[in-house]
Amino acid sequence: MARKTEQTDYVIPPPPQASLPIRGSTDRFPVRRVYCIGRNYAAHAVEMGHDPTKEPPFFFQKNPDNLLSEAEIFPFPSESRDVHHEIEMLVALSGGGRDLDPAQAQALIWGYGVALDMTRRDLQGAAKALGRPWEIGKAFEHSAPCSALAPASEIGHPDTGAIWLTVNGELRQSGDLAQMIWKTPEMIAILSRYFELRAGDVILTGTPAGVGPVAEGDVLEGHVAGVGSLRITIG
Ligand code: MN
Repeated sequence: MARKTEQTDYVIPPPPQASLPIRGSTDRFPVRRVYCIGRNYAAHAVEMGHDPTKEPPFFFQKNPDNLLSEAEIFPFPSESRDVHHEIEMLVALSGGGRDLDPAQAQALIWGYGVALDMTRRDLQGAAKALGRPWEIGKAFEHSAPCSALAPASEIGHPDTGAIWLTVNGELRQSGDLAQMIWKTPEMIAILSRYFELRAGDVILTGTPAGVGPVAEGDVLEGHVAGVGSLRITIG
C-alpha cells in the first residue's frame, strides 16, 4: 500500500516563487511582497503637482511576479501610450514584525538593489482622477525591473549618495538618497503599523525628480551609489 507523503498535492502546478538574484552569488532572495512609497523626494512631489510638505507617507503595492531581473529587455506594456521610468533604491527584508521602530526596522534589512518603478502614467492619471486604485498604472507585468541585490553585510546601509538614470546616455533623473523625505528605516517602521512585515518583503523607496516617458529602443541605465547599477532596453 502506498504511503501517504507529507507533500501537499495541488490541483494545478504551484506558481514559481518570485525571487531576485544576489550579486556575486548563485543564491537568490525569495520575494513575498513588493511595497512602494509615493512622492518620497520633494522635487518629484512638486513635478507631479503636489505639496512636498512632510505629511504621512503613502504606500502602494506591485506583485512579486512583476519583478524583472536578469533581463535585458523591458517589454513595452499593453494599453498605454505614456510609460514612465522612476529610478528607485530597493530594500529587501530578512525579517519582519509589526509596530517596528526605525532601529528595529534597519536591523531587518538584508540588502539593497537598484529598481525601476515603471508606470503607465496615462492609466495612473485616469485612476487618480476617478478616485480608483492605482494597480492598473503600477502593478503590471515586468513593471519592476531590478538589479542583483547587494547584501547590507557588505555595503552597509546607504542613506546618502547619488541616484540617477540616463536614457540613451542622457541624464534624466538625478538626486541623492539624502533627499528622501522619509528615510528607509522610518518608512519601514511606518509601513509596519499598517501591515505585518515578513522576511522576503521588498520596498521601493521612491524616485527623485525627472520622471518621463520611454519609447521602444530606449536604453535606460540607472545607478545608486554604493548599491549598483541596472541597464534595460525598452522592447
Ligand atoms: Mn515610484
